[in-house]
Amino acid sequence: MRYDTIIIGGGPAGLSAAIYGARGGLKTAMFESLIVGGQINVTSEVENYPGFEEALAGIDLTDRMRKQAERFGAEVHYAEVTAVGLEGLCKIVETGEGSFQAKSIILCTGAHPRLLNVTGEERLTGRGVSYCATCDGALYRDKVVAVVGGGDSAIEEAMFLTRFASKVYIIHRREELRAQQIIQQRAFENPKMEFIWNTVIQEIKGETRLEALELYNRKTQQISFLKADGLFIYVGILPNSALLESRLDLDPGGFILTDEYMHTNIPGIFAAGDIRSKVLRQVVTACSDGAIAAWSAEKWIIENYPALAPWEPQ
Ligand SMILES: Cc1cc2nc3c(=O)[nH]c(=O)nc-3n(C[C@H](O)[C@H](O)[C@H](O)COP(=O)(O)OP(=O)(O)OC[C@H]3O[C@@H](n4cnc5c(N)ncnc54)[C@H](O)[C@@H]3O)c2cc1C
Repeated sequence: MRYDTIIIGGGPAGLSAAIYGARGGLKTAMFESLIVGGQINVTSEVENYPGFEEALAGIDLTDRMRKQAERFGAEVHYAEVTAVGLEGLCKIVETGEGSFQAKSIILCTGAHPRLLNVTGEERLTGRGVSYCATCDGALYRDKVVAVVGGGDSAIEEAMFLTRFASKVYIIHRREELRAQQIIQQRAFENPKMEFIWNTVIQEIKGETRLEALELYNRKTQQISFLKADGLFIYVGILPNSALLESRLDLDPGGFILTDEYMHTNIPGIFAAGDIRSKVLRQVVTACSDGAIAAWSAEKWIIENYPALAPWEPQ
């Protein structure tokens, strides 16, 4: 099967690219290995996406995007892309559904949470250790939980946890947070939240479930123990880069470098959303990237393929 553009990843960036690509007249297919929506699906309240004055669930927002893309004729395939051929004018996309060809590819594979990499983390994941407050927060009604991290996600998810937990500790390795000021202010005013500064988690302890955290204060060099029923880890994100070829230019963190048109260094290959090297990873910026990438793919196809022989180079 041949397409004008194949979008890899069905998060907000991929969905926006699918809307703009299909509406712009490109024969468009989007491949998603899990369920459409990406990382935002785990968020129960998105309150910063323009146009929705009341918060809405991430999954509701992305479901609307999927319907919008399909209305314009974009094909949504539920299959993992396992390999890509990015060179030349005929791009190849290998999936569990078979092999597909495209004139252009838009990489929207997104990102995933960084692990703490301490003893006990892997063993107790799903047994008190979580990376998703929205998914697991309700399990901690009247319990004590800790959140590790100091960015927007850590503080927002900690605030969310105060709806259920009796106490929410924020463990942060520095003396101040990186989160936006408005988010910090809300957190400092919340009586259920307590901050443990200059501290890292050395070990996550517990037999069959999380019981306590071994903490190390980097300033005083003291070790202490914190009893907790849950630990939510928000220490950054890593690119979903399994597909990325060595010829793609990446930043030191492994995110794809693009120009403002979402061109990568390989002609006909575009990148959008969290997989891209960028300053702000949010739904609104992922959608913006996706729109620009689809627009750029259309321009690239017009410039590189004659209208009557669409699969031959000019
Ligand atoms: C806990 C949390 C809360 C957040 N809250 C907010 C918020 O309130 N507001 C906001 O604006 N942003 C929020 N964000 C950030 C937002 O979710 C991301 O910026 C956004 O989802 C990025 O979209 P994306 O499409 O680039 O990537 P992703 O959302 O990561 O989607 C990438 C998709 O690609 C798929 N994929 C990857 N590899 C393959 C492959 N080989 N084949 C097929 N499919 C593949 C993945 O399954 C995934 O569905 C939050 C993020 C997290 C983690």
